[in-house]
Amino acid sequence: MTHTVEHAVENTVEQRRILNTAIPGPKSAELHARKNAAVSVGVSTGLPIYVERAAGGILVDIDGNQLIDFGSGIAVTTVGNAAPRVVERVQQQVADFTHTCFMVTPYAEYVEVCEALNELTPGDHDKRSALFNSGAEAVENAVKIARHATGRQAIVAFDHAYHGRTNLTMALTAKSMPYKHGFGPFANEIYRVPMAYPYRWPTGPENCADEAFDQFVSAVHAQIGEANVAAVIIEPIQGEGGFIVPPSGWLARIADWCAANDILFIADEIQSGFCRTGDWFACDYEGVVPDLITTAKGIAGGLPLAAVTGRAELMDAVHPGGLGGTYGGNPVACAAALGAIETMKAEDLPRRAREIEAIMMPRLQALAEKYPAIGEIRGRGAMLAVELVSDPVAKTPDAALAAAVNKACHAAGLVTLTAGTFGNVFRFLPPLAISDGLLNEGLDILEQAFAVAHTPPAADKQPDTD
Ligand SMILES: *Cc1c(COP(=O)(O)O)cnc(C)c1O
Repeated sequence: MTHTVEHAVENTVEQRRILNTAIPGPKSAELHARKNAAVSVGVSTGLPIYVERAAGGILVDIDGNQLIDFGSGIAVTTVGNAAPRVVERVQQQVADFTHTCFMVTPYAEYVEVCEALNELTPGDHDKRSALFNSGAEAVENAVKIARHATGRQAIVAFDHAYHGRTNLTMALTAKSMPYKHGFGPFANEIYRVPMAYPYRWPTGPENCADEAFDQFVSAVHAQIGEANVAAVIIEPIQGEGGFIVPPSGWLARIADWCAANDILFIADEIQSGFCRTGDWFACDYEGVVPDLITTAKGIAGGLPLAAVTGRAELMDAVHPGGLGGTYGGNPVACAAALGAIETMKAEDLPRRAREIEAIMMPRLQALAEKYPAIGEIRGRGAMLAVELVSDPVAKTPDAALAAAVNKACHAAGLVTLTAGTFGNVFRFLPPLAISDGLLNEGLDILEQAFAVAHTPPAADKQPDTD
């Protein structure tokens, strides 16, 4: 079955994998030496091929290699790289005007993006939005709004959470290396509670939902006090933490308990939002309506834009001038968002994400039957991952295998990403504009990468089958 998006991009970059040189090639290697001499070592690169052009599901590097994209620049180019409607709107906008600062002299594009967000995000209540530059900035502002609207200070975040790299969002993020190590002190009044992580729940996945909920309620009550909590923030499917999907119904229980205690429920949908999981937002699948929702990444087809959307009375509780920033809701980024949202509607990209799941799932399941190192397959839509373990019974995280599979995929011209608190999750975030052909070719490469990278466990390490 061919997908219509293919036609839109076929004149830009041929949707075909081409390997001209080793990966990375000589020109990329040369540029990488310059990078190492010019760019802070703190900013590292996962796959140092230097990109010259990209469209649909293909990245073209400066050595003329064409790589299949299973990462979307970390869930950003959901509509495809340089998507036609995004390019057209951006080109028009950048020629019209580039900046005024919305807080000085406003423009229609900002308002139109907010109208679209208010319409598309979960719930049909009265909503308002505000625009920012990055996901972390949106999360910071959601916290500011929650504190201002409730008059309370404490924020509750979960194990394995990722909310960004600024000072406040580092405090919300769970993992130390590389995000927080040596960068403290961190913001206070942030409290961490256990995440409902079925695969690693100590007493087994069947007990995860109830026990995780009880532990959450008990920790908030005993250690913080409900009356001190402004908000609970959670990714409906955790991103950097390893695509952890809580048990069905668990998010709704948390949200209901928050509502009963006048605590705001903030959904961080920066990675899971905008069609990625097979719905417009991951909360839709669970029927959860957050008080505040943060979005970024997929919102603008690659331009930097982020938003907080929420109940009108919360968003309007802030005094005039209390929110903003020089570039927040830049007109070019807003034009890109309007082009991206138009594409998502016209191409029915939630449906496309479900099609991608239907193609990928059986092949990942076949792979898991062959390799017991795949401890779990999880995720929804085009946000899927496998968790790798060196011992399927003890579930010992195997970060080395994840790194080896990643390396083998890269060498074969497939751009892939790892994730997870233990570095042992191999995740898939293909652009929704990818063709079925490229998707299957990427999965062929993945199979070969497992064959290359997988070393069977030593005989004395085999699980006891008696
Ligand atoms: C990426 C991400 C962020 C941070 O977004 P930036 O644009 O990198 O600041 C926050 N929350 C989640 C869930 C993310 O995936």
